[in-house]
Amino acid sequence: MRKTALIALGILLAGVIVYVYLREPPLNQIPKKGTPFCTLLPSSILYGISHDTVTWVGRKTLYWDKKSELRIYFYGGADTLRKKVMKIAQTWAGLSGLRFRQVTSLYDSAEIRISFTCPGYNSLVGKENLQTRNLRIPTMCLEGLDTLKDQPLFTRTVLHEFGHVMGLFHELQSPAAFIPWDTGKLYAYYEREYNWKPDSVDKWVLQLYESVEHSDFDDRSIMLYAVPDEVTKGRFEISWPDKLSQRDTGFLLSNYK
Ligand SMILES: [Zn+2]
Repeated sequence: MRKTALIALGILLAGVIVYVYLREPPLNQIPKKGTPFCTLLPSSILYGISHDTVTWVGRKTLYWDKKSELRIYFYGGADTLRKKVMKIAQTWAGLSGLRFRQVTSLYDSAEIRISFTCPGYNSLVGKENLQTRNLRIPTMCLEGLDTLKDQPLFTRTVLHEFGHVMGLFHELQSPAAFIPWDTGKLYAYYEREYNWKPDSVDKWVLQLYESVEHSDFDDRSIMLYAVPDEVTKGRFEISWPDKLSQRDTGFLLSNYK
């Protein structure tokens, strides 16, 4: 009798360990290589949307095959939250012919795995998502979106991160970007707002991409972040995007249709 009880207890413990192990990804295993840095600039620099031009930056080898189905898994998050993210993400899928299908089990081998607890906002780009098949590692972090009340910010963030899923990089670092940075003020701004050192600003803001396809610079792309006037020479600023631009849509038509 005692032996049976011990075996039952052992099975129960093993079950608990397996459950805990699979349930949430360890936060120290977020993929770094190839992960584009997405960050939230402070709301104090929100500007109204102005002019009507735009662009996209991508890498063909990272685009998905046409009409691919991507499986999407959420580590946690209420059902309503997941549905909200899926609905916004469908904007890309609907225009591209790709299909986004939410799966509810880690064993469904989802290509896109989203956590609301891993640090920051970021995503792997296009087929980079296939490079990590460890199901315990998220491919996209939407930290805190489960408590975010700012609806425009929520929508913009999901659209932006799924732009990375589609294979797009940041527009600010397009080889076609012509931002008249005031480098000294830019460094000071990032130091003040994010505690970034100049080498981080060089890497994530100033350094233009190589080996990418791109259109003319698109100052309304959803893959763009606002540029406050205080970090540029003369009068130059870019407002936050709130939806896919014409060029963003053009990217989908050119590469997925
Ligand atoms: Zn980004």
